Formats: sequence, C-alpha cells, structure tokens
Amino acid sequence: MLPAFQTLGEEEIPLTRAATRYLAKDLIAVLDSPPFDNSAMDGYAVRAAEVDMASTDTPVRLQVRGESRAGGEMPTVLEPGTVCRIFTGAPMPSGADAVVIQEDTKRHGEAVDIFEPSTAGQHVRARGSDLRSGETILRQGDRLWPGEIGLLASQNFAHVRVYRRPRVALLSTGDELKALGDELAPGTIINSNVYVLTEMLSLLGAIPEPLPAAADDLAPIEAALRKALEADVVITVGGVSVGAYDLVQEACRRVGIHPEFWKVRIKPGKPLTFGQHQGKPVIGLPGNPISAMVTFEVLVAPCLRQMLGDREPHPQPVVARLQHAYHRRPGRVEIARGIATRHGDEIQVSLHELQGSGSLPSFVGVNALVILPSDRADLEAGERVDAILWGSGLRGSRSFFDAVS
Ligand code: AMP
Ligand code: MG
Repeated sequence: MLPAFQTLGEEEIPLTRAATRYLAKDLIAVLDSPPFDNSAMDGYAVRAAEVDMASTDTPVRLQVRGESRAGGEMPTVLEPGTVCRIFTGAPMPSGADAVVIQEDTKRHGEAVDIFEPSTAGQHVRARGSDLRSGETILRQGDRLWPGEIGLLASQNFAHVRVYRRPRVALLSTGDELKALGDELAPGTIINSNVYVLTEMLSLLGAIPEPLPAAADDLAPIEAALRKALEADVVITVGGVSVGAYDLVQEACRRVGIHPEFWKVRIKPGKPLTFGQHQGKPVIGLPGNPISAMVTFEVLVAPCLRQMLGDREPHPQPVVARLQHAYHRRPGRVEIARGIATRHGDEIQVSLHELQGSGSLPSFVGVNALVILPSDRADLEAGERVDAILWGSGLRGSRSFFDAVS
C-alpha cells in the first residue's frame, strides 16, 4: 500500500497553525541566533582583563556607568575602568567582553566591588553562537513540534510551506447503521466506526470527510463511492467480508477500482482490502469495530503519515513483559489490546480480558497494542513481547521526581 500514498503538494500556512505539520522544503536561517551579544546573567558587564586579579580578599573596585536591560536603550561604549549594570538578555555594551554575576559583587553607591576574576566570554551569549544566518535549520519532511515552531518564530518566519493534508472520505456501509442521536429501532446500531475513524484521522493530521452510511445495495454503495472519490483517499468500512451482503468489493469493481489484495493474515482485521482508482488509494476496512480500529492503526496510519510528509511513518514497538499467560490459536499475527505500566526498569503489559473483534469496551484504558507472532500458541507470563504504545502512552499518578534525588 505504501507506494500509493505519496505527498500531495505544498501549501503556505501561518506558523500559528503549523504545529504537527511536515515541512515541504528546507529552511535557511535569515538571522543570527542570538541576534546580538547579550548577557546570560544579572550582574555587571566588564572588561575581563580589568578584574582578572579580583578575589574575596582583594576585590577590584570599578565605577558603574549606565545600565543595559532587555528591551531598553542600547548601551553606550564601555570606557576603560568602568562597568555597566546589566541584566539577563540585555545587549552587551561594546568594549565589554564578560559579565560578573551580581552574587560576586557588592555595590557602593556609584562604584562596585568585584570579588571574583572573570575571563573573556564568561556569561556572555555571543551573537551567532547557536546559529548563523545562512545555515540550514530544518529539512524537508521535518515535523513541526512546539520546539521547531519556537525556532521558526525566533527567525521571524510568520508563514511556512508544509505538505497538504489529505482529505480522507469515510464511507461506512450497512443497513443496520444509524447516526448518533437517531432512534435505535430493533436490529439497528449506531455507526460507531465513523466517529472512531474521524477522530483517528484528525489525530493523525488528515482531514476526515465522513459520508452518510450507504445501504447494503450495489447502487447506493456505487454512488457513494463516486462521491467519496472526490477526496484524496477513500476508506470504506464494513461489507468487505464473504457474506451475501458484503458488496463493497463488487461496487468497487463497477467504479473501476480493482483490488490489489484482499485479506491479511492478522487478527483482528482479516478481510481488509486495498485498490486504487487512477492512482487514488481506496482501502476497505472490516466493519467489526475493533478490526476497523486496529487495521487502521497498524496498516493505514503509516500510509497516511507518509502521505502527510513523514519520512519515518512506522511506529517502533517497545519491548514489554507479559503479566499473564495467554493462549491462542496460532496462524495469524495477533494485535492484542493491552494495558502497559512501568515497573522499575521495565514495561509490563496485561492483555485485556476482552479480545473480541467487536468489543468496544475492550478498548477502554488501552495504551498498548501488543504484537503476538503468528507461530506462537502459548505465551507464558514474563515473556517478552513487542508493544506499540497507543493513546495516552505510559502514565501514572506519581511524578518521576519521586524516584530521583
Ligand atoms: P461487516 O464487515 O459489514 O460484515 O460488519 C461486521 C460487523 O461489524 C457487524 O456486526 C456490523 O454490524 C458491524 N459494523 C459494520 N459497520 C459498522 C460501523 N460503521 N459501526 C459499528 N459497527 C459496524
Ligand atoms: Mg455489513
């Protein structure tokens, strides 16, 4: 599936709306950082050579001339034999090459005693010492987290070029499906999948476009598919298994979407299907709620991340220890719902007792998808397994500061 999910082109957006987006081009610094020599501490700007003999017993007394504070007027040139009162972030006066911290001084009216020697550059943040104008600061495909936003803001970049977000049509199928708030006649259920997948798409950074559920008939599914194909990606839900009313595949064929595969050897989620319409990816997810969520997470989400511009779209599992034995039928890779907790220096995971592919309560509190290899039937307590952290990740009621001195 991955090769069908290429980036969609670029757009320029305000930096204030760019968090979690992926850069579409390399960015070059236009400003030095720091932009001017400034003080890292509160104290006195000095010529280091004038205080290099200072000590507690033999302080050096110098005249204080002027003040430099962050956002204040630019300080004048520092005359020999004088110091300048200075505060953190304030520009260094020219002529000064070091800052003596306030704690190493004592003020006497217009003069100050300096009790510690200094060396050139001490407590000074030199212009360009972090970054020079012209250097590459971020690369195409980098994701903009708050730190990157701060860097771009410090460069005064109000707009930024990022990859477009794919619009993803969500087409659920099933005569039994009702929208949230509808009356539930006997034999009907709420279309929960469309709400789950809408949120999963939003959290990824894609644009969900939920369509009304289509009835289990070829004509409505076909019509809905044509509408769905206006989006960049189509995800159908339900109707892809082997039942007499599983008509999504046939409707796809009629629209000209030919399956590249059908059925995957994972549990839950076996009847997943994938095809393309003139290069546009079309994924058929199984309708069972857990199958839909799990296959979306492990198979579709990496594809969409790549389409969003991510160069590393695959989640990397952590190693966890099974808390309890688990017995299963081998043959398919199983993606089990688990609750991961931290115990000393390892992660333990307990599998949810409900593992049915339709059981929505089995997802409550789940923070790990545990990957059980296809060839294993009996997993013992204490065995190591791979787990993808999910949802809220590893949390607890105690602060990690409780464990460090
Ligand atoms: P299907 O894949 O259409 O055979 O559906 C498998 C099971 O999932 C059936 O019990 C359906 O009622 C249920 N199901 C299908 N689509 C949805 C949906 N959008 N929301 C909740 N349950 C669904
Ligand atoms: Mg169905």
